[in-house]
Amino acid sequence: MEINLRIPGPTPIPPQVREALSRQMINHRGPEFAEILGRVTENLKTIFQTKNDVLIYPSAGTGMMEATVINVTSPGDTVVVITIGTFGERYANIAKTFGLRVVTVDHDAGHGAHLDEVEKVLSETKDIKAVFVTHNETSTGVTNDLEKIAKLIKAKDLLLVVDTESSLGSIPVKIDEWGIDVAFTASQKGFMCPPGIAMVSVSERAWKAVESSSMPKFYFNFLDAKRSALKGQTPYTPAVSLFFGLDTALEMMLDEGLEKIFARHKRIGEFTRKEIKKLGLSLFPYEEFASNTVTAVKIPEKIDGKDFLTKARVEHGLVLGGGQGTLSGKIFRIGHMGWVEEKEIADAIAVIKQLI
Ligand SMILES: *Cc1c(COP(=O)(O)O)cnc(C)c1O
Repeated sequence: MEINLRIPGPTPIPPQVREALSRQMINHRGPEFAEILGRVTENLKTIFQTKNDVLIYPSAGTGMMEATVINVTSPGDTVVVITIGTFGERYANIAKTFGLRVVTVDHDAGHGAHLDEVEKVLSETKDIKAVFVTHNETSTGVTNDLEKIAKLIKAKDLLLVVDTESSLGSIPVKIDEWGIDVAFTASQKGFMCPPGIAMVSVSERAWKAVESSSMPKFYFNFLDAKRSALKGQTPYTPAVSLFFGLDTALEMMLDEGLEKIFARHKRIGEFTRKEIKKLGLSLFPYEEFASNTVTAVKIPEKIDGKDFLTKARVEHGLVLGGGQGTLSGKIFRIGHMGWVEEKEIADAIAVIKQLI
């Protein structure tokens, strides 16, 4: 049975990338790797729409969340975390783990951050070291209006760190234009690669924060990565095979063109929502905030959510995402980022139609 992997990451990998992943090893301190690192970094800057430095680590996205926290803060600092779901809460938990004072902004599930709430918290909180925001909340299929949120934060001249893991390379994120100091993503979402590589952009202003940070860190010290990059290396052994894959994936992305990729994701997002509503199902998010990379759908009361997901997978080869935390059994999620066209969504819809 053919598998239709429709979870919001890891996402399916094109054949060209799979082939690149199987190449023989090379010396990670040799000229061949230096060339790949240079090219991948430059191509990432194009996709990130930034002139800032881009660093690459072998890590899950969560490792990079931790890295972004510990590189720009010092123990006892105050940070604001704008949470709209599970991944925002994870940022707050990481910050707390490192002894930071964390102020969060309240939210309604399924809704983007309320700009007036953001403004209020930013005005009322003293000595904010940095503001952390989730761009696309994968757990609920909600996309924040990052441009507007960034404006509020920049108006207060604050350091802005954004989790763009499930948006960057799929829906527009204008790092330089919107003044995003730190943004990260990982290989297994919009980048058509297996999990294992995380990448982050760091602005001039963020480098100043990194230089003055006294938070203990070793593996994730961005200053070491920056120094090594000048030699065409990474401080520790890179995920060499994933670099081969990412190199190929980036080439494919640049061949398609950023604007075309964004247009495809928008078209497929709209198509998914339209088809879901045609089945009489309801979207979990408020539609104005519905994401173009992942669609969260309410599971009707009469249906056993767990049973539905199992049947889809076992009987039809359709692998959907479930709900996380308190949403377990209440929603399912269809991933549509990276290497995806209408066909895969139409196939998924046909299965869902049979099961509800
Ligand atoms: C997937 C994801 C993460 C976490 O990534 P891992 O690679 O699973 O650690 C963080 N934030 C967002 C928005 C994500 O979609």
